[in-house]
Amino acid sequence: MKTTAAILEAQGNDFTLQEIEISDPGPGEVLFEVAGVGLCHTDLAVREGHLPFPFPGVVGHEGSGTVLAVGEGVTKVAVGDRIAASFNSCGQCSQCTADQPAYCVQFMERNFGGTRADGTSALRAGDQQVGSNFFGQSSFARHAIAHERNVVPVPESVPLELAGPLGCGVQTGAGAVLQSLDCEPGSSLLVTGGGPVGLSGVLGAVARGVKTIIVSEPMASRRELALSLGATHAVDPLARPLSEQVREILPEGVRYVLDTTAMVPVVTEIIASMGQRGHLGMVGVPSNPEAALNVNLLEMQARGLSFTGIVEGNSDPDTFIPELIRLYEQGRFPFDRLITTMPFEQINEAVTAQANGESVKVVLVHS
Ligand SMILES: [Zn+2]
Ligand SMILES: [Zn+2]
Repeated sequence: MKTTAAILEAQGNDFTLQEIEISDPGPGEVLFEVAGVGLCHTDLAVREGHLPFPFPGVVGHEGSGTVLAVGEGVTKVAVGDRIAASFNSCGQCSQCTADQPAYCVQFMERNFGGTRADGTSALRAGDQQVGSNFFGQSSFARHAIAHERNVVPVPESVPLELAGPLGCGVQTGAGAVLQSLDCEPGSSLLVTGGGPVGLSGVLGAVARGVKTIIVSEPMASRRELALSLGATHAVDPLARPLSEQVREILPEGVRYVLDTTAMVPVVTEIIASMGQRGHLGMVGVPSNPEAALNVNLLEMQARGLSFTGIVEGNSDPDTFIPELIRLYEQGRFPFDRLITTMPFEQINEAVTAQANGESVKVVLVHS
């Protein structure tokens, strides 16, 4: 059938809306009509060429909507169901079978390969194959094909068009705090970067009962939002060295850190902010893929520091997204407060609004 998609023709280009052909769902696949799709940093990293993906291609990986058709063998969802889509994984490797699909050994091929596992694409423009299957969904479009494995049902309690970010940015921040770092109630957390992932981490920390939640963010409006979501302190890292400001609040240093910046000077300040047995979780994608950290080995050993790289907040979408939805239903996880909606047709304007900080998380909705 025909659909409209936001195509990336080449590296660095704006998105262009085009009518393309989307195939029927194959075995294990789910065709859905997109109600909303979040804009995530990873979509733009593809556009800038920081991550591999074939051009022309369709990205978008925080889609939600209504199931229109299912392929052979699909039992998890049926036509008419409300779903959100998340990242894809193989289901068979050592990580997938240990409920850690975010560390699937085939994560790159399944999410960035631009085709199905057999090399075909569900998307075509005339005679040309179009890159698809981005995060197992390519949902910057009116219709998208996902997999039974990476869709989860969305109950009526959640506005359908807002559910997509649960599948990436929101679960990454909240999962980093609730699962990867597993911050205990009464502990302390520093979050560097008050974007959608960092603020989702704040929401997770509030739900967990973390006592001291410090957000480091240069933008005043985002510091205010952080405080209104339950952060106990919000500091400007450009005003004075971050470690100095953290140690005024916590003289012994902070126990947990969620870094969303992936910037070496920020991480250097973080290490100086960490207390004994400090645990740093890193979710950011560095703009320079060669970026490396120089850590004093004696300091790391003597202070008992640990560093953990984090993908998707260690989420197993089938269990973690329902857990976040339950917290939302209890009024303890208001992730919708991070979201601004814009019409799908304004995707290029949305990129600008998110980049200049006017919006924390834009969700593009179809009229
Ligand atoms: Zn796997
Ligand atoms: Zn994402």
